Amino acid sequence: MRVTTAFNRMLELPGGSVQDVAFGSDGVIVTVRLKRRRRVCSGCGAEGLEIKDRRVRRWRHLDLGASRCVIECELRRLRCPGCGDRPEMVPWARAGSSYTRDFEDVVAFLSQQMAMTPLAKLMRIGWRSVGKILARVVADKLDRGRLDGLVMIGVDEVSHGAGHRFLTCVADHGTGGVVWAAPGRNAQTLQAFFAELTDEQKASITAVSIDMSAGYEKAIRGPEGLPNAEVCFDPFHVCQLGGKATDQVRRDEYNRHSRSSSSEGRWIKGTRYSLLKDTANQTPKQLLKLAEVVLTNKRMYRAFLLLGELRYIYRLPKDEAAERLDAWLAWASRSKLRSFVKLARTIRKHKAGVLAAIQLGISNGRLEALNSRVRLISHRAHGFHSADALIAMVYLCCSGLQIPLPHR
Ligand SMILES: [Zn+2]
Repeated sequence: MRVTTAFNRMLELPGGSVQDVAFGSDGVIVTVRLKRRRRVCSGCGAEGLEIKDRRVRRWRHLDLGASRCVIECELRRLRCPGCGDRPEMVPWARAGSSYTRDFEDVVAFLSQQMAMTPLAKLMRIGWRSVGKILARVVADKLDRGRLDGLVMIGVDEVSHGAGHRFLTCVADHGTGGVVWAAPGRNAQTLQAFFAELTDEQKASITAVSIDMSAGYEKAIRGPEGLPNAEVCFDPFHVCQLGGKATDQVRRDEYNRHSRSSSSEGRWIKGTRYSLLKDTANQTPKQLLKLAEVVLTNKRMYRAFLLLGELRYIYRLPKDEAAERLDAWLAWASRSKLRSFVKLARTIRKHKAGVLAAIQLGISNGRLEALNSRVRLISHRAHGFHSADALIAMVYLCCSGLQIPLPHR
């Protein structure tokens, strides 16, 4: 068998035919000829363009045994009225990439399975290249129909990297997947999402769950927002605020008891998890500490009960929730605990949205799980300096995107 025939069979490069194989310092260099001779712009797909000149281009392909493999092909550069001078399109690589599709698809597949450092090592590429590859694959494979027929969506912010940088993620409550993500976390960020929707797509959305504290509400209710959507507040965030209020009570008590210089102050410091964790998840030691709180510190015990009751409201049958929430608000307002008085004021102001979440059955666990998954990815993708790479990772790992391995 001739070497070129062997390589044609081995590589299965679509639209290319192997002309020559050589060994160079970069590994195996496979020279290929484009079978199709139609002149198609790689930027926009325009056909029948004038040829400007010819240049040899290279693409890194999947390794062959111990060697790297490089595809080399002479391409025509075309004069495109829309894009300027651009090389012609090749079927085996995405426009603007110096990697083949097969190589990029394998990188994207692996990014769904493993951490970035071993991936970069395995594929013998740098982090920056990984980021660019993922962004290209996602742009190519992301389902354009994912924004059709959304009914209930959730909007959440996720911090990433050093400093205070944020992503806004939009999730579909129906599928539990992320459908959109962009840098930023204010009304304008969400406005950019609405700008991508058609009037029909906007109209189908009947509920949006958000965090009470974020500035998203303005965008939803604005003239360019969602005309049919009810705004509701994520149970997950409401309970989180309850946790913060509880912890504030503990801190106030700690400060009042001369902090770590007294034994009581040190004891208060150690009660954190007994107060914040659901009793079902506490260790025997934490439960014992909780029992001590019940006996010795009325303010912290009251905070613990208020938090427990707030969580309990979300487990009640829907028709009991409104009455129970009113009772909770009255209790919290009279509690003489500064942080709970304040929280009651916040929740009362947003009561319609808090109850709407209960009535619509917005699932707490699912959103919380998604939120922590995005956080984990942002941690895994910590070495990416660009938000684009992180957003690509979020789509790859949280939108249900399937990346088939080549030739399987
Ligand atoms: Zn073009």
